[in-house]
Amino acid sequence: MRYTTTALLFTLCAWVLPAQAFELEAKKVTDKVYALVGDIDQRTKENLGLNNTLGFVITDDGVVLVGSGGTDEAAKLIEASVKKVTDKPIKQVVNTGSQDHHWMGNGYFIAQKIPVMALKRTVDSQEAFKAPNLQRLATALDKKPEDFKPVAADNVVDADTKDFTVGGVAFSLRYLGEAHFPGDAVLWLPDEKTVFAGDIVFNDRMLGLLPETSKVKAWLATFNKLAELKPEHVVPGHGYPSDMATAQKAVGDYLGWLVEEVGKAVTDMEDIGDAVKRLAADTRFDFLKFHKEWNSRNIHQTYMQLEAE
Ligand SMILES: [Zn+2]
Repeated sequence: MRYTTTALLFTLCAWVLPAQAFELEAKKVTDKVYALVGDIDQRTKENLGLNNTLGFVITDDGVVLVGSGGTDEAAKLIEASVKKVTDKPIKQVVNTGSQDHHWMGNGYFIAQKIPVMALKRTVDSQEAFKAPNLQRLATALDKKPEDFKPVAADNVVDADTKDFTVGGVAFSLRYLGEAHFPGDAVLWLPDEKTVFAGDIVFNDRMLGLLPETSKVKAWLATFNKLAELKPEHVVPGHGYPSDMATAQKAVGDYLGWLVEEVGKAVTDMEDIGDAVKRLAADTRFDFLKFHKEWNSRNIHQTYMQLEAE
């Protein structure tokens, strides 16, 4: 009976409410800087694979867009989301990450003759992990990898720092070290005291150490370098923009906890299964979404990495 009522209600709601198209949430960070917050969830067909956070900067000479989404459709939504905030055209796109949702929409902008800048390290990593990223994206969007034709940045910088100015705003694209993926970079705006941290920072949801790409100690060191910039505003790769203290809790403290606690378990030669079970019961980082799915995996991955040292 209960099931029937629930099912009936669900059917009624689905009928009464029109399907809501997915939207990116524009969050003002400073007068010039906005974050475009995607779903804090998995990639789905509905969210066009945009389970990450992008952003843009309004300059006197147009908009600098950070991140292009994973597909042409996602790129179109990003462009429309920028247009809701400013009439200024997109002048420049910057890639900070190697994962699909940070760059695979480049072609949509390059076709409009909007240049896309990235560090060579980032482009190399995008290429190196293109196949598994495409596979993951295609599965989530119910498509085939060959349905997508990702285009690399056309303004590739063979250096670890590139300072440039657009419309009176100073930018510094920097590689600070390995994090979620090799080649992940940050875009630092010294005058705005804002850093587009890319996948070095996951706010609101637990970060994931991917066995093939993420090295826990390197990620922590990279995060600490980012902290040295002393940003007042952090636009993360996933989650809402925040201050540095919030990013510290979600990323710096968590990575530090993993290295320290799992490190002790490795030194004590505690059985890996026992260590995962014991440490996964710790509730300190339960405020992060997906902690149930990711904490055990991260503890396990950290154990493997620290044991191999
Ligand atoms: Zn990401």
